[in-house]
Amino acid sequence: MAAVLDRTKLFIGGEWVESASEEVQEVFDPATGEVIAHAAKGSERDVDRAVRAARAAFDGGWSEATPAERSAALLRLAAIVEENATEFAQLESRNVGKPISLVMSEEIPPMVDGLRFFAAGARCLEGRSAGEYARGFTSVLRREPIGVVGSIAPWNYPLMMAIWKLGPALAAGNAVVIKPSEWTPLSLLRLAELAAEELPKGLINVVTGDGQPVGEAIVRHPGVGMVSLTGDVSTGQAVAAAAAQSLKRVHLELGGKAPVVVFDDADLAAVVEGIKGAGYFNSGQDCTAATRVLVAAPFRDQLLERLVPAVDGIRLGDPGEEATEMGPVVSVEQLERVSGFVERARGEGAEVVAGGRRVERPGFWYAPTVLLPRSQEAEIVQREVFGPVVTVQAFSDEEQAVAWANGVDYGLAASIWTRDVGRALRVSRRLQFGTVWVNTHILLVNEMPHGGFKRSGYGKDLSMYSIEEYTQVKHVMFALD
Ligand code: NAD
Repeated sequence: MAAVLDRTKLFIGGEWVESASEEVQEVFDPATGEVIAHAAKGSERDVDRAVRAARAAFDGGWSEATPAERSAALLRLAAIVEENATEFAQLESRNVGKPISLVMSEEIPPMVDGLRFFAAGARCLEGRSAGEYARGFTSVLRREPIGVVGSIAPWNYPLMMAIWKLGPALAAGNAVVIKPSEWTPLSLLRLAELAAEELPKGLINVVTGDGQPVGEAIVRHPGVGMVSLTGDVSTGQAVAAAAAQSLKRVHLELGGKAPVVVFDDADLAAVVEGIKGAGYFNSGQDCTAATRVLVAAPFRDQLLERLVPAVDGIRLGDPGEEATEMGPVVSVEQLERVSGFVERARGEGAEVVAGGRRVERPGFWYAPTVLLPRSQEAEIVQREVFGPVVTVQAFSDEEQAVAWANGVDYGLAASIWTRDVGRALRVSRRLQFGTVWVNTHILLVNEMPHGGFKRSGYGKDLSMYSIEEYTQVKHVMFALD
């Protein structure tokens, strides 16, 4: 058994500092259930200290940094992730239970590329051109940073979600106070430590600890100009309500319940491969996971004949092994949540055709599961499980497919599977989701925006849109005489 890491300090102002609370919490390896680290439970006073450090970095030079200088800093951050890829992948794998080969192939490269994209974006930010809109006056638009941005991250992709927040915030010229999930603080603490060796001190300040008090203190702090949260819908509601007191800007990336709409002309092999990949990647703990398969009724049995063995064949195992396809879920709480959903679905009459049980080994394991729910109104269809659970429903026609796909509170992502171009265009237009894939599911690119409709939140991650989200537009008008 490896030594338990001591991460009981916070990273503020470019150095390790003691938390004012002096309380610590255990951090687990979900594949074994063992404690792998102790981390600080930060407090309101720690958040205040971090906000002051961020403000000092902003006022002390970062707000004057040229786009080229901001870009260079982000390129250094990209290099830090790339040069330390193995260490980051190991931390992420041990703390979340992710198969290490998938972290190396599917997470590290887009994180490095993302930071390089944000480095480029820092140099492309612009207001629209200046001009005379009233005779005798010239108007200029400036895109200015907000100052100190507060970021609150989830546990499913601890480092990637942090980078999706840090990248655009720094590109736009802000300093950041960031809180990782209490379950997964390790990779972000290490990134901040390495970054402080090369970037201005105080640009990235990490306060670990619980949503309350740390997250809430970030949201309520008067020195924080904007808050960006990735998390559950209920957390988004709490953050938006708390931010309403000061009317500070809020950026919310919340849950999802992505439909996979399969028409009867789809390439069945591609559909099965797509669901196996996108439904169970990261143990289904992905906000865009392919969780709700809606299939044309005459096509359902053929789909299940192929899908069930494919899902039963997903290789569960030690996340450190190259061949492992799926690891555990992140925590005992998440395990209880997933199995609770499946048991209630059974109680509502759903048929379990794959999995539907815990896997008996130390740690927090749940078998990849396929369920046939009784109705569109079933809880298992309506609510995000955030685990390796996929439902399959049969629709009678395109109208019903669209109604069911849209018939949930979430609106983050969806996919359509068909060879009919007209139908793909027609249905993609009618789906109320921030991303719609056609004949694929889950792939994101750094140049394109990612963000929800409806209760999946507002504000965009990735792309130039995300950098703009971390700026405010100022109109400066000059009298010419
Ligand atoms: P969560 O909402 O429980 O926690 C997210 C973060 O918010 C954590 O750091 C937590 O400590 C903090 N928090 C909790 N209560 C708070 C409060 N009152 N004030 C301020 N901060 C608070 O979510 P989670 O379980 O960590 O992550 C899973 C959720 O994240 C899922 O719903 C998933 O869909 C969503 N998610 C969305 C996206 C996206 O891009 N839309 C990406 C990844 C995850």
